[in-house]
Amino acid sequence: MPNPVVAIVGRPNVGKSTIFNRLAGERISIVDDVSGVTRDRIYAKGEWLGKTFNIIDTGGIDITDEPFMSQIKLQAQVAIEEADVIIFLTSVREGVTDADENVARILYQSDKPVILAVNKVDNPEMRAEIFDFYSLGLGEPYPVSGSHGLGLGDLLDSVVANFPSEDENAEEEDIINFSFIGRPNVGKSSLVNAILGEERVIVSNIAGTTRDAIDTMFVDEEGTKFRMIDTAGIRKKGKVYESTEKYSVMRAIRAIERSDIVMVVLNAEEGIQEQDKKVAGYAHEAGKGIIILVNKWDTLEKDNHTMKEFEEKIRKEFQYLSYAPIMYVSAVTKQRLSTIPAKIKEISENQNRRISSSLLNDVLMDAVAHNPTPTDKGRRLKIYYMTQVAVKPPTFVVFVNDPELLHFSYERFLENRIRDSFDFEGTPFHLIARQKK
Ligand code: GDP
Ligand code: GDP
Repeated sequence: MPNPVVAIVGRPNVGKSTIFNRLAGERISIVDDVSGVTRDRIYAKGEWLGKTFNIIDTGGIDITDEPFMSQIKLQAQVAIEEADVIIFLTSVREGVTDADENVARILYQSDKPVILAVNKVDNPEMRAEIFDFYSLGLGEPYPVSGSHGLGLGDLLDSVVANFPSEDENAEEEDIINFSFIGRPNVGKSSLVNAILGEERVIVSNIAGTTRDAIDTMFVDEEGTKFRMIDTAGIRKKGKVYESTEKYSVMRAIRAIERSDIVMVVLNAEEGIQEQDKKVAGYAHEAGKGIIILVNKWDTLEKDNHTMKEFEEKIRKEFQYLSYAPIMYVSAVTKQRLSTIPAKIKEISENQNRRISSSLLNDVLMDAVAHNPTPTDKGRRLKIYYMTQVAVKPPTFVVFVNDPELLHFSYERFLENRIRDSFDFEGTPFHLIARQKK
């Protein structure tokens, strides 16, 4: 079940980023190769009343070379396309402006719920001034103050109440959802079309959760159902903002949320770029299955070492994805494309795999016998037992005398032993240390 998306729109200086920062519990972090984590300014996770959601500050999507008014109109369009609920932010200081009215007119055309918020209502006396905002025709205005943190609870109540119902969003259980993500021009749409050409049993084009996303379903010979999720660049609509990096990262994140398995597409000609790492890192953090596809393999002059050299580069740049298989493909010559669905299926099985506690503990005992647990300040780590508590991604709880003593390197060692014994290729994996009481 993907998280609902909330977008904040409004003209510059009304306080969008201030409100965004207030609502953002945790920035959606994007794994960086060495330094660990970089932050994306426009996208974050929030939580209210136990519901988590993703939040976008559309003000952060800069569309260069566009005049002021068309910038904010485009931002409003992005919100309409991408969000489940839109917060339209205005400011009590300037009152209702022409720009506000223009944004409102765009928002009327959408059937997405719009919540009107009036910012900078820093004290109760100013509340009387918000009634002017009824003239925008978007219902009751919510007074808030980003700098003082006022009114946000009522605003969030209303946002959450407007989320799509669970049934509306429910997606069938027995379908494997996958998507192609990557920078513009790596060949995502060519891959989609080529695969559709190969797979003869296309079930239908079905509308996804976002009204204008078009997913495609197909079934393999064994009756396994696949859903190919529409991603940025696949059904190009020719809008200016589609080529901006922020927008394409945002679309990618949205597609990743809805996927079980993510195909991270790289361009063999151009090698690995910074943006490739961002989206791959997000898929990893989100616990999704991952396959690395090196597309345009036909364009390289190859000798016996080419594949090996490419693999070494990928392993070095994407160290956290050591579990992800790499496939070298071409959307043009169709090389290896027919093997993709089988690989996806294999990884889907791996991410749903459950290992019995007794088998797991055999592996654990054996691992500890070969590589004794570390000591820290005279205290030795003791591992009592381990049990799998979840799938997708496989999650294991290991009971120990003191979780602090389970250092990263020993955790890595245990993970590798488990991976050596059971097939978890293509799926990230969580190991949680708990103190045994
Ligand atoms: P954005 O351009 O819409 O993202 O607006 P910012 O969040 O950057 O805020 C613009 C200015 O308004 C900054 O100087 C903020 O400090 C100020 N501001 C934001 N929220 C409030 C508020 O609730 N009250 C007051 N008085 N100022 C605010
Ligand atoms: P997207 O933006 O990621 O969807 O990329 P496209 O599918 O639009 O492809 C961008 C360009 O790369 C197009 O000109 C494609 O014809 C070309 N292309 C895509 N896949 C391949 C491939 O495997 N080999 C070669 N030689 N060109 C490709």
